Amino acid sequence: MNTIQAYRFALDLTPRQERVVLAHAGAARVAHNWALGQIKAVMGQRAAERTYGVAEADLTPATGWTLPALRKAWNSAKDEVAPWWRECSKEAFNTGLDGLARAMKNWSDSRGGKRAGRSVGFARRKTKRRTTPSVRFTTGAIRVEPDRKHVVLPRLGRLALHESARKLARRLDNGTARIMSATVRRDGGRWYVSFTCEVQRTPCVPAPPASTVGVDLGVKHLAVLSTGEVVANPRHLAQASRRLRRLARRQSRRISPDWRVRRAESKRWEGTRRALASVHARVAHLRRDGLHKLTTRLAREHGTVVVEDLNVAGMLRNRKLARHIADTGFAEIRRQLTYKTQWSGGQLIVANRWYPSSKACSGCGAVKAKLALSERTYTCTTCDLTLDRDLNAALNLAALARNVADDRSGRESLNGRGADRKTPLAGLVAVKRLPGTAPAGQTGTVPPQGGATDRVRTKAH
Ligand SMILES: [Zn+2]
Repeated sequence: MNTIQAYRFALDLTPRQERVVLAHAGAARVAHNWALGQIKAVMGQRAAERTYGVAEADLTPATGWTLPALRKAWNSAKDEVAPWWRECSKEAFNTGLDGLARAMKNWSDSRGGKRAGRSVGFARRKTKRRTTPSVRFTTGAIRVEPDRKHVVLPRLGRLALHESARKLARRLDNGTARIMSATVRRDGGRWYVSFTCEVQRTPCVPAPPASTVGVDLGVKHLAVLSTGEVVANPRHLAQASRRLRRLARRQSRRISPDWRVRRAESKRWEGTRRALASVHARVAHLRRDGLHKLTTRLAREHGTVVVEDLNVAGMLRNRKLARHIADTGFAEIRRQLTYKTQWSGGQLIVANRWYPSSKACSGCGAVKAKLALSERTYTCTTCDLTLDRDLNAALNLAALARNVADDRSGRESLNGRGADRKTPLAGLVAVKRLPGTAPAGQTGTVPPQGGATDRVRTKAH
């Protein structure tokens, strides 16, 4: 199985190396801003000509905004725009132009309705202040040194790693990985190199292939598994909130930069900014570590993992919930499970957004019309089953996998767009919404018919 995978390592750059990397990142910005200026000028020119009534065929020819077109334009203009271009690798300019080509494509696709998700705005100029410095190398000498503690990149030379690159080096040595590109970027005050690799993974079978686990995600507990296990929510952001508040307060008392009065920031202000950034980076790292450990374990120990299709974007619009939801990383759990179950040879089933996992009884299948948030214990009025609310939901999700398995053995249950079109399943008949299922990444679209806001509330505690 061939996959594209990234390997990221922290770097220990010397001050001199850092200056060279920053120069390359600056060169990327220059190329990006120049090309953006050209595109905008031609677009403005054509718009003006149209208002004069110039025929469509006689307009100034439009500039292409694909990467080859931008590169060609840049190469013919670089002597004038950036006479110093020889000081930087051509990959630096390519980084900037590639970013612009993608931005323009996303914008035009979004306008033409070809792109899902939120609408994408027009590309903006990159400024030193606003942009994360980064440069990507796609050609030239890119390798990991035999000592596994250094990497070699074009122009930058031999860079020391902060950690061992053994995981990637092993794959490179036995020929199961090929480096396609290397990106150097700064993140939270630290430099990283990220290798995009084509990796040959040996297909494997999860330990017990028949094992199924339902995962109910929440804020009170990060996850409740149908096995009865409760994964606590570490709340890393809340843990750090005192330090963050204190640092922010300290920063507010120091002299910040102000472009209106041309005031530069003080060294002390810059120091607190750095301290704040490192606390945020630490929170992000702790969260990432915990999520990876959870999803790897789920994918390795179970053949089938069932999660809900949560409306994370919708929940993030709820001001009271947003911080807590963002601190748990629901969407990230789903994303990681999608590829990790593939790697481990298992499957991920995503329950339809309107599948009543919380309201249905895991014993008899009766569905409650209402279930208040405060009810932490589920009590069935039909069969008197009493159990923890989240465990009940997890059991319902696990049961869904069995229904899917039965269903798949029979007939095709998904239509062309992946939407569910099967008849009600026995045992779950009193459901307003049918227990629709779809394989991960192909969740069917169902017209919203209530229940959505309620669902947000259900996940709140
Ligand atoms: Zn019941």
